[in-house]
Amino acid sequence: MNYKNITVAGSGVLGSQIAYQTAFKGFNVFIYDINDEALEQAKKRINKLKVRYQEDLQATEEELNTAYNRISFSSDLSTAVAEADLVIEAIPEVVKIKTEFYNELGALAPKKTIFATNSSTLLPSQFAEATGRPEKFLALHFANEIWTNNTAEIMKHPGTDQAVFDEVIAFAKAIGMVALPLHKEQPGYILNSLLVPLLDAAELLLSNEVADVETIDKTWMIATGAPKGPFAILDVVGITTSYNIVNAKAEATGDPQFKKLAQLLKTSYIDKGKLGTATGEGFYKYPNPSFEKPDFLKN
Ligand code: NAD
Repeated sequence: MNYKNITVAGSGVLGSQIAYQTAFKGFNVFIYDINDEALEQAKKRINKLKVRYQEDLQATEEELNTAYNRISFSSDLSTAVAEADLVIEAIPEVVKIKTEFYNELGALAPKKTIFATNSSTLLPSQFAEATGRPEKFLALHFANEIWTNNTAEIMKHPGTDQAVFDEVIAFAKAIGMVALPLHKEQPGYILNSLLVPLLDAAELLLSNEVADVETIDKTWMIATGAPKGPFAILDVVGITTSYNIVNAKAEATGDPQFKKLAQLLKTSYIDKGKLGTATGEGFYKYPNPSFEKPDFLKN
């Protein structure tokens, strides 16, 4: 892997983190976004990130500024990708927006440039044709708060070249990520393939009145040694996100169990402002939720 110049397209929540982390690890970074206003927002986001890097990683002022100075900004796509070895796309999770972006990018980027999507829910094969270079395209998926939650799921689509896959794995490691290769396309990658069924099952046990929140979490924690149960995890994910997923399932399948669950999440939690850790209350109250108390795992 001899990448030097990385372009990050879209500088919102994830894009700004990917750009700063990449610069922090010594690469030259170009940030591309739609207009000057979006680029100003990106600068603000990155200045906030510097504080987190200082607090969480004890980064020095010099390291923080050196990283910042490795970043260039442009709202002109051809300028932003002219030298790019790799473009990481972190633009909105909307098929039409991403397809149009890849059509434009494929026409403007040098032939050598590899493209990676950070999409959480869309598969790379959906955009492979639009890139005009399916063999140089794959998914590179980061988690929010990338500097500490440092997973990178690297996922091929059926047309991705093996050498490109290997290079992007090496790149992910070079920017401090734990690289998690997926050799086939999988909706939800590894994490959500495991987590979504667990969270759904826990919520259905609750809404079907089989057991209460604490009993369900306690069972999971004692039996598997996990530090948190599914409801503690749901409080971090946010109950609104969970509601949106459950509601979409209820509408897609018409399954009355999911309808009842969606109703419960809305009336007992969302309507009462209990949205999870973000609002100080969800399934548990914060700080000092009961599952962290020393006697929680006892009778
Ligand atoms: P966001 O809304 O915070 O940021 C999107 C950015 O893209 C904005 O700066 C916007 O100005 C810019 N943009 C819009 N249209 C564009 C275009 N045509 N070209 C270039 N830039 C454009 O979104 P986000 O939360 O950072 O998510 C971006 C991608 O990352 C999505 O695919 C999402 O699935 C994925 N992702 C998000 C998270 C998360 O926790 N937020 C985690 C992992 C992956």
